[in-house]
Amino acid sequence: MQAASKKSSRRTPPVSGALQTEVLVIGGGITGAGVARDLALRGIDCILVERYDINAGASGANHGLLHSGARYVSKDASAAAECRKEGALLKKLASDCIEDTGGLFVAIEGDDERFVADFPRLCARSGIDARSLPVEDAREMEPLLSDKLIAAYRVPDASVDPFKLTLENVHQARALGGSLLRHSEVTGFEIDRHRIVRTRLKNLLTGETFFIQADQVLNAAGAWAKEIAALAGCSLNLLYSKGTLLVTHNRLTRQVINRLRPSSNADILVPGGTVSILGTTSIRIDNLDAIYPTVEETDFILEEGASMIPALEKTRFIRAYAGVRPLLGSSTEGDDRKVSRGFALIDHAESGLNNFATITGGKLTTYRLMAEKAADLISQRLGVSTPCQTRTEPLPSAAGAKWTKPGLAPRMWIKEHAPDDILLCECEMVPKSVVDNLISSIRQQNGTPDLKALGVRSRIGKGACQGTFCALRTGAYLYDKGEVKEEEGLDGIRAFISERWRGIRPLLWDTPLIQAELQEAIYCGMYGLEL
Ligand SMILES: Cc1cc2nc3c(=O)[nH]c(=O)nc-3n(C[C@H](O)[C@H](O)[C@H](O)COP(=O)(O)OP(=O)(O)OC[C@H]3O[C@@H](n4cnc5c(N)ncnc54)[C@H](O)[C@@H]3O)c2cc1C
Repeated sequence: MQAASKKSSRRTPPVSGALQTEVLVIGGGITGAGVARDLALRGIDCILVERYDINAGASGANHGLLHSGARYVSKDASAAAECRKEGALLKKLASDCIEDTGGLFVAIEGDDERFVADFPRLCARSGIDARSLPVEDAREMEPLLSDKLIAAYRVPDASVDPFKLTLENVHQARALGGSLLRHSEVTGFEIDRHRIVRTRLKNLLTGETFFIQADQVLNAAGAWAKEIAALAGCSLNLLYSKGTLLVTHNRLTRQVINRLRPSSNADILVPGGTVSILGTTSIRIDNLDAIYPTVEETDFILEEGASMIPALEKTRFIRAYAGVRPLLGSSTEGDDRKVSRGFALIDHAESGLNNFATITGGKLTTYRLMAEKAADLISQRLGVSTPCQTRTEPLPSAAGAKWTKPGLAPRMWIKEHAPDDILLCECEMVPKSVVDNLISSIRQQNGTPDLKALGVRSRIGKGACQGTFCALRTGAYLYDKGEVKEEEGLDGIRAFISERWRGIRPLLWDTPLIQAELQEAIYCGMYGLEL
């Protein structure tokens, strides 16, 4: 790693009682994590703050599609080309987080044939390699596709593990000297002579207020970027579009399946390890506190998805979840899918603040480029001339991030488990040795290894039982190890199960209904817990 070539001559004198850093990055999603890594590789000191835990926002609630760009070719050719370039780079540089499945775009009877005919030309315009495939071959590759197929194209889509990607970015940033403060919510700014002098934060675990003094402040708070900007007296034009996704019990297809039509609801199925993810919707919302999947959305997604893959009607779903896309631009009537999926880097110098900027919008697929642009602006303001290195430096695999990978824990356990290495999560086969491993990596990050933190870093709670058994077993194990005491463990179990419940509630039919009744019997009947 090269050292920073020139440091800021504009450092404000340190204020006692405040943590000092060159750059404060707000928001521990993929964008904030990517910026922290980029800055660290340039030798710039940075603190990344997140009010909850890594990937609490859209980065932990998306489709996991590494876009080839084909989805955007008709409405946003430049966003499509951006996805193509970044997707190809990430396949090379972060291959550990990506399953290069390839993707199919398929049209069925009744779909707009003019759009189908135009598709290869539109892809070519954005440089995307789309190859026509006989429909029989497509159905041979993916037998669950409808027999009403009228066209199919192969594109270089892939599947990405967002949890691993964010954790690995954070891990390298920390390894190079950066810091991560979880459970730290930005609550205000102190401004003097056109600069943010100190940022006020609240530790959400202890309730304590503390301050960070940084030369530069970057707002990477995703859908909450508007609220953060407002705390600094700046305005942002953001729309909020909620999207809901459904997780199947088993993986249904080998590759990503897209419906070949102008983007609409429920027209993508993405394989993610041992499951498939179906979605999504796009619903304008005003209230960021109401991000949950609804029964109506679930019904709609299923109905639409089944016209492309009829087996979805009989598939068992284990969970639904929702995230919010911050869309840039002025309020348009009707379809939010028409609003650009590009990103914006806003230099708030225009609003009178010389050391504050916002990076928002964009895609998981384009996070690296977003981070590069934000870090370029910050470096220029700090007088650092070291160029971006994330375009060429592979993302190292971090030991603490590997357990998000579906199938890894079972493989390890079956191959080489010690006789006393009991399974704490049976659906995803997470043994106690993995939990021990995670506890020490969370401790190294000065974090608290509660159930939620373990869930973000592993497959605990992600299997068919959705926490019914593993929350209790892991909770009990944390008590045995002395990691939680008194009410802490029970509070953790309650919070974990309530969070899972949000995703089970819209799917209550057939087996999930039986599962939910069992969960209620265990938690409320046997253990007397009010959920
Ligand atoms: C339904 C859906 C499906 C999607 N599918 C895909 C896809 O398949 N492929 C793709 O490429 N992209 C997809 N996206 C887009 C992608 O998820 C986002 O572009 C990306 O995750 C945004 O990351 P971010 O870090 O900018 O924001 P976020 O991940 O939302 O992170 C912002 C963070 O800021 C934190 N924060 C907020 N306020 C404060 C505060 N006051 N103090 C401290 N921290 C704070 C939040 O807790 C949050 O963790 C999808 C998005 C949605 C919603």
